[in-house]
Amino acid sequence: MKTCDVVIAGGGVIGGAIALELARAGLHVCVFDRQKPGQEASWASAGIISPAPENPGMIAAVELAKRSAALYPEFVAMVEEISGQSTGYRRKGTIQALFSREAKEELSTIIALHHGLGLKAEPLGAEDARELEPTLSDELEAAVLRPEESSIDNRLLTAAVFEAAQRSGAEIFPASRVKGIWREGARCRGLLLENENVEAQWTVIAAGCFSGTIEGVSAYAPVKPAKGQMIALRADNLRIERVLWSEKIYLVPRDDGRILAGATVEYVGFDKRVTAGGVERNLAAAIELVPGLKDARIQETWAGLRPDSADHLPILGPTDLHGLVMATGHFRSGILLTPVTARLIREWITDQKVSLDWERFSPLRFQRAVATG
Ligand SMILES: Cc1cc2nc3c(=O)[nH]c(=O)nc-3n(C[C@H](O)[C@H](O)[C@H](O)COP(=O)(O)OP(=O)(O)OC[C@H]3O[C@@H](n4cnc5c(N)ncnc54)[C@H](O)[C@@H]3O)c2cc1C
Repeated sequence: MKTCDVVIAGGGVIGGAIALELARAGLHVCVFDRQKPGQEASWASAGIISPAPENPGMIAAVELAKRSAALYPEFVAMVEEISGQSTGYRRKGTIQALFSREAKEELSTIIALHHGLGLKAEPLGAEDARELEPTLSDELEAAVLRPEESSIDNRLLTAAVFEAAQRSGAEIFPASRVKGIWREGARCRGLLLENENVEAQWTVIAAGCFSGTIEGVSAYAPVKPAKGQMIALRADNLRIERVLWSEKIYLVPRDDGRILAGATVEYVGFDKRVTAGGVERNLAAAIELVPGLKDARIQETWAGLRPDSADHLPILGPTDLHGLVMATGHFRSGILLTPVTARLIREWITDQKVSLDWERFSPLRFQRAVATG
């Protein structure tokens, strides 16, 4: 039987970053993934680092998101230094394009909302926006510049995080499916694998949208997959510097010249097939935002599964089983929320207290909701 201080179920960017933080704090950490780590949502993502809420329901997570975005430069520097690998971190801001006839009114509402939440946002006229990003459509009416937002190549980041975690002493076990938690009374003793048990003082569940399929975990992590289809384009004579958004699509430039476009949000179970409808939707919206993309080559299409929770907020922290901690439900913001999640889980495990109010993200909130009807 293996023993370690902390055992982590799931080797996405979240499990990897927690392993890195804890290993750097001197703990013996083991990560178990049923396949090669980093092949699910953390691979499929667009890697936008934007604390701005996509809808009113996400406002509850803005403070957490701001904290994570602020940690990013230091986190990336640490990961790149330890791993010796680049992460494609681009701190160039993002531009939200507005096309409607009511764009002027929309603009003041968006700016006021951002400023009310303590987020930097500047109004741009159509000409000013096109001066910054000449490929934007002529149909543009106005735009919002969010100068502090950024993006990262999530595939490079995840690989670098695992390299850094291993170099810091964490042990990674691929092809090791976790069946369930090892429960003894009110205590979690570790994980149950296919052919062995792993004993640990602390057990962290970070299996993304699959977390609820691990036996003994579903009450704390009622997560479901939210499929997102993406497309990567390559256009030799067209340059985009910043992440561009419209209400239908985002475009994310990568250092290697690819332009990512996405993404759909579909509730179709654990299905990762790319569909004609998904590709059509992404292409049409991408060309509407940047018409020059009609001549671009399609380099890759893929789909991934975001871990969505019942209230769309992350599920973080201790449970009522001693030693069992959740780190899942990051939905559309798991790349953004990676540094703060790793920090909070490490603080909980090493100090049993955290530097941020995370009650609203508690894994116990779903049981309380059932109890109160
Ligand atoms: C199309 C798309 C676009 C996105 N865009 C953005 C974005 O721009 N910005 C942003 O911040 N976020 C974005 N996200 C969300 C973000 O990618 C996720 O929230 C984040 O990657 C979740 O990371 P994770 O480590 O929790 O899960 P995952 O990366 O899914 O990792 C879970 C791991 O657990 C393993 N596992 C599952 N079951 C078991 C088991 N029983 N035993 C052992 N291992 C198991 C899996 O193999 C996997 O490696 C996007 C997601 C998608 C799909």
